[in-house]
Amino acid sequence: MYIVFIGPPGAGKGTQAQKVTEYLGTAHLSTGDFLRSLKDDNTPLGEQARKYLDAGDLLPDSAVSGVVFKHLMMAECSQGCLLDGFPRTIAQAELLDEFLIKQRTPLDLVLKLKVDEQELLQRLNGRGRGDDGPNTVKKRLQVYARETRPLLEYYRKRNLLHSIDGHGTPDEVFIRIQQCIDASSPKSNIDESA
Ligand code: ADP
Repeated sequence: MYIVFIGPPGAGKGTQAQKVTEYLGTAHLSTGDFLRSLKDDNTPLGEQARKYLDAGDLLPDSAVSGVVFKHLMMAECSQGCLLDGFPRTIAQAELLDEFLIKQRTPLDLVLKLKVDEQELLQRLNGRGRGDDGPNTVKKRLQVYARETRPLLEYYRKRNLLHSIDGHGTPDEVFIRIQQCIDASSPKSNIDESA
């Protein structure tokens, strides 16, 4: 299955993505983890990762989609992939649609993890990742609201969006996700009207 995970910083995408990957046995790509791993590289992408991640800003759409599509073309993704952190803008979603339609492997499911803002801030404060300083967190929440939230409507219109309550323990949240995955069978044909 090809699944997209959407949620604000701190919603638990990384934790749940891990569990979903184990459950389905498919590949997993976290663009955030991947970009963080490039931060020490002396390459143009490494330089962009340093610049944008530390500021809490999104990298240019073309840079990130290039990385993602290269990954999706690898053999390990032939049966599907869980995308965690991509797409994050409408432009990225359109590029992904184009790519997947060409591959004849349309998206099966978009999972949105919903957590209220107070809880998000609490979780982010307790996490202490390099880009979790108070100013960067604030910026990332703003960027999410401005750039990523419009994606929900984009996918709702395509009947792909499922909203999951992200409160509770990781296992409680995962049970909700599992029910949702079990209820949606993989689409074998491209829906031309989508
Ligand atoms: P979170 O969702 O917790 O904010 P991520 O680990 O998903 O964190 O992403 C961290 C950072 O990586 C983002 O703030 C951004 O700088 C960069 N990034 C990740 N995914 C993308 C993307 N799809 N487009 C542009 N930048 C991205």
